[in-house]
Amino acid sequence: MSSFNIGFIGLGNMGAPMAANLAAAGHTVTGFDTAGTTATGVAVAQTAEAACDGADFVITMLPNGAILRSVAANILPAMKTGATLIDCSTVDVESARDVGALAADAGIGFVDAPVSGGVGGAAGGTLTFMAGGTDDAFAAASDLFDIMGQKAVHCGEAGAGQAAKICNNMILGATMVATCEAFALADKLGLDRQKMFDVVSTSSGSSWSMNTYCPAPGVGPKTPADNDYTPGFAAELMLKDLGLSQQAAEAVNADTPMGALAQALYAQFVEEEGGRGKDFSAMLPRFEARGRNS
Ligand code: NAD
Repeated sequence: MSSFNIGFIGLGNMGAPMAANLAAAGHTVTGFDTAGTTATGVAVAQTAEAACDGADFVITMLPNGAILRSVAANILPAMKTGATLIDCSTVDVESARDVGALAADAGIGFVDAPVSGGVGGAAGGTLTFMAGGTDDAFAAASDLFDIMGQKAVHCGEAGAGQAAKICNNMILGATMVATCEAFALADKLGLDRQKMFDVVSTSSGSSWSMNTYCPAPGVGPKTPADNDYTPGFAAELMLKDLGLSQQAAEAVNADTPMGALAQALYAQFVEEEGGRGKDFSAMLPRFEARGRNS
């Protein structure tokens, strides 16, 4: 594989290990983060524009769509024609589409490629990428996806990666809430949690939330529940993704009552009930502590 010049903007919990993996694979990576963070093997630039100067690829891993838009407005003019911008942040579909259009106007390829797999997947190079963009842009980015992840699905045009991500996470949020409330009900019915797991994990109520990420400590595979609900996937990140799903649903007039309720429950949990900083499966102790009207 050729060695590329890569600009990497946003060296946070996810971005730093992703950038380090690209550098370890032999690419020349120059990073920039407003917080001054660095990553192993990555040269640090003083500005985002400087990190992108002469780059074949620029990867962004940023907190939200507003920041992505402002970073894109700065770096697109600094990028060389024919380069490719890969945004791996989780942002709203509209921001992804708008940045894709700005890139096209500037003669730059664009792929929105949000990830699943979390910080562990970023460090281990085992992320899954859900990508949107032209066939050419996706093909160009594929070698880098192979380094940072184990799977990349081309979902459609710009924005399709974000659409896949928020639909997936809307299902995840709703099924985690359903799994936790069912465990809390089972407790009150005197049903042993291990028996509940044994039945549901092999029955029609099974899901990733039950089988792979069981929210009950000591039951099923090892999960954040076994580590006092240390994330894992933090409740506030789930709240962010549920917010994006409802924002998208509003924009296209889709009826998503379960997603809306999951968003409301995670908002209450994070903002009023001490859920910030806990894994999103900590919904189980939350339900356990509650009765029907409290
Ligand atoms: P993070 O807050 O650790 O990292 C974001 C980084 O962006 C920070 O270091 C911040 O200083 C930097 N930044 C902010 N504004 C900037 C700017 N204008 N220019 C340059 N840098 C700037 O967040 P994270 O956990 O790394 O998540 C990044 C993205 O990945 C988010 O969109 C998140 O939703 C998504 N994501 C996170 C996870 C996870 O488990 N952490 C999983 C999947 C997806």
